[in-house]
Amino acid sequence: MNTDHLLEIQNFSLSFDNKVVIDQINFELKKGEILGIVGESGSGKSLTSLAIMGLLPKNAKTSGKIPFRLDDRIIDLAQESNESIRGNEIGMIFQEPMTSLNPSMRCGQQVIENILQHKKQDLKLAKSKVLSLFEKVKLPDVERIYKAYPHELSGGQKQRVMIAMALASEPKLLIADEPTTALDVTVQRSILELLKELQQDLGMSIIFISHDLGVIAEICDRVVVMYQGKIVEQGPVQQIFNHPEQSYTQGLIACRP
Ligand code: ADP
Ligand code: MG
Repeated sequence: MNTDHLLEIQNFSLSFDNKVVIDQINFELKKGEILGIVGESGSGKSLTSLAIMGLLPKNAKTSGKIPFRLDDRIIDLAQESNESIRGNEIGMIFQEPMTSLNPSMRCGQQVIENILQHKKQDLKLAKSKVLSLFEKVKLPDVERIYKAYPHELSGGQKQRVMIAMALASEPKLLIADEPTTALDVTVQRSILELLKELQQDLGMSIIFISHDLGVIAEICDRVVVMYQGKIVEQGPVQQIFNHPEQSYTQGLIACRP
């Protein structure tokens, strides 16, 4: 594994009942980069991220390797089901924050529980950590948000709470699966800016998944284009966006609104 790679996906395949849904894919994530995965619905993007997170359904059959660099050793995420490694080193945010937030628990409390799950610490210290995380993700009036229930927040604010939660363990890798798809365009843009800033400030690597190549082009360094479980092409995002080699990618660009 190349020393400047944080993660590699090597000959990874996944099937359900002999139906292949990911077919021999290969890509790498460099330290500190934002890598995009783009493709229409059903192309295998979410399953790829769930494989990295170790959250695949039990009936998924996989082959291949997912080496991940953890300080001075390399672990194969395709083999090991070490939850603490994933929970601490890899954070994930999803399209719909409501499905991941508990509607009957105050936002601050949810992030606190998440922090305490990863690391035993003083409650007061944990609370101040939550407030500083809320500031880091640029939530307004953090004391109010701390006490608010999820339904009292806007969609963009809920997504920021989710990002704060994912950052609580200071992960090396953040996987964002369609994090802006459910948001309107201006909110979408501010979340993209936030992710980019976080990547620059914290030096973490991000895998950013979207069906929209335009969104990918705004924040990613490189992009992997997937179609029906295969990688169609990959490369620097401007190159793919301006000079796509494959007709599938050309179609993705042409059908943008
Ligand atoms: P994407 O995120 O790109 O929209 P997914 O990774 O969610 O695509 O799904 C890829 C393919 O795998 C789809 O055809 C989907 O129907 C299929 N699939 C996903 N989850 C399951 C499952 N639990 N059982 C069977 N097929 C599944
Ligand atoms: Mg998906």
